[in-house]
Amino acid sequence: MYDLVLCNGRVLDGTGAPALSADVGIQEGRVVAVGDLSAVDARQTIDASERFVAPGFIDMHTHSDLTLVIEGRASSSLAQGITTQIAGNCGVSAAPTLDHEPYYGPLDPTMTRGLVCDWIGFDEYFERLDDQGIGTNVATLVGHGNIRVAAMGWEDRAARPGEMERMCQLTARAMEDGSLGLSSGLAYAPGPYAPLDELVELGKVVGRYGGLYTSHIRNQTLGIADAVGEVIEVGQRAGISAHVSHMQPGSPMLGATADLLATIDTVRAGGVDVSCDAIPYTIGSTTLKSLLPPWALDGGDKALLGRLRDPDMRHRIKVDTLTHGAESGGSRKRNLVKDGTWDRIWLGSAEANAHLAGKDFAEIGRIRDQDPHDAVLDILIEEEARPWMLAEDVSEQDFLNIARHATGGVISDGFSLIPEGVLAEGRHHPRSYAAFPYFLRRFIREQGALTWEQAVHKLTGHAAARFRLADRGVLREGAWADVVIFDPERIAEGADFDDPYRYPHGIDTVLVNGVAAVYEGRLTDSRSGRILRRAA
Ligand SMILES: [Zn+2]
Repeated sequence: MYDLVLCNGRVLDGTGAPALSADVGIQEGRVVAVGDLSAVDARQTIDASERFVAPGFIDMHTHSDLTLVIEGRASSSLAQGITTQIAGNCGVSAAPTLDHEPYYGPLDPTMTRGLVCDWIGFDEYFERLDDQGIGTNVATLVGHGNIRVAAMGWEDRAARPGEMERMCQLTARAMEDGSLGLSSGLAYAPGPYAPLDELVELGKVVGRYGGLYTSHIRNQTLGIADAVGEVIEVGQRAGISAHVSHMQPGSPMLGATADLLATIDTVRAGGVDVSCDAIPYTIGSTTLKSLLPPWALDGGDKALLGRLRDPDMRHRIKVDTLTHGAESGGSRKRNLVKDGTWDRIWLGSAEANAHLAGKDFAEIGRIRDQDPHDAVLDILIEEEARPWMLAEDVSEQDFLNIARHATGGVISDGFSLIPEGVLAEGRHHPRSYAAFPYFLRRFIREQGALTWEQAVHKLTGHAAARFRLADRGVLREGAWADVVIFDPERIAEGADFDDPYRYPHGIDTVLVNGVAAVYEGRLTDSRSGRILRRAA
């Protein structure tokens, strides 16, 4: 007698193999049979007729590190069919903290207002999540920003030997606690201050534990080839797998993915294990202060605010961006500022200026009767450097090039949210509620950019293999019963940029470790997710 049989569906097993009409039997949280189970007794059956039965989606790039502490239900992820997420990306993770002070890096602290941080290392953080209960499975990388700030603060310089040693120790500790590897955020202070050798040294520590290195690269515009080359070099010199996060170039390098992917093919043929991923939207989202040159953030937010209030320094900051755009570091979105494309940059979150969230900076400039560039700098002062922004500066062609490439993954870059309380404030990017249904509706059903088999493989088996998640991302005997059942004719996002906190359509069942987290289209609050530690 099985606990559960999912019957009459078309099974996409996550490997990319052709869909198969089959039932799926589940017992004690695992898949125990795939095939004709019509003669088998089960405590419960779910009819999956005319729908796909697939491994639960794996989002290999989220920033849910702290939102999961505020609320572990992970409703916005589960409703998309996501059963496993990898947090700790872009150089920022939940641990280690600096004496219980989180490193927010590019994250917006107002988003998790009221957070009580009672952990230092991942051991305590994981315990906290386990105690609260989590909706999805969660694995994490350790952020280079956490490590560097803990070892040497926000200084714009190379590490001294003692500091380097401390960074290696902290990295080793995170790996021992179960981190999958190291992520860097070289667009976000203190990431830009780290020379390549520092990343190689930390990569070697990660390598001792079989971990990998991922990076939000140093430059996504004119210097993107060199920036990708830097990731490759870390992989090569440290002898580890390396991964370029959201490898999407901004203007004037739109289309550069063709060459970048050719480079990846070449170095892979030479024995360096490099991969990449992409977000399915042309609009991105990040911290507003990444529109500034990295030197302006030397010493941390307090020092930054002092510079913004100093007329000479403020002038230098503006001139740097207007002269160099993204080429002097920070976000690729600095090119939009350089070009004066203010109607493509929106304020995402704010407290004192909450009424401006969701508006673009051309309009914000008109409302405040000031130059949009000054509006950015003044809002940073008024909001103490915290706000997020959205900006449109990448192409769908580059996304598709990556999604179609053998090493390319598809990610949300979002947060696990719930549509109430502090996690529903502001006007954040709809990807947190919509990235995967949007990808499947727009690029698969409507455009046929990949087959359903290939698309589901990207979101499941491909991601699990890349991050070495054992028995996840595939539907076969012995695998964990993380499952999504969806209707390929109906799957679609509900959230958009006008209304970013709406659930998607066409996903009626989601199982996490064999337990229904979505049943008959409704969230159940089952909290059956687990912490996935790096396999020893
Ligand atoms: Zn990210």
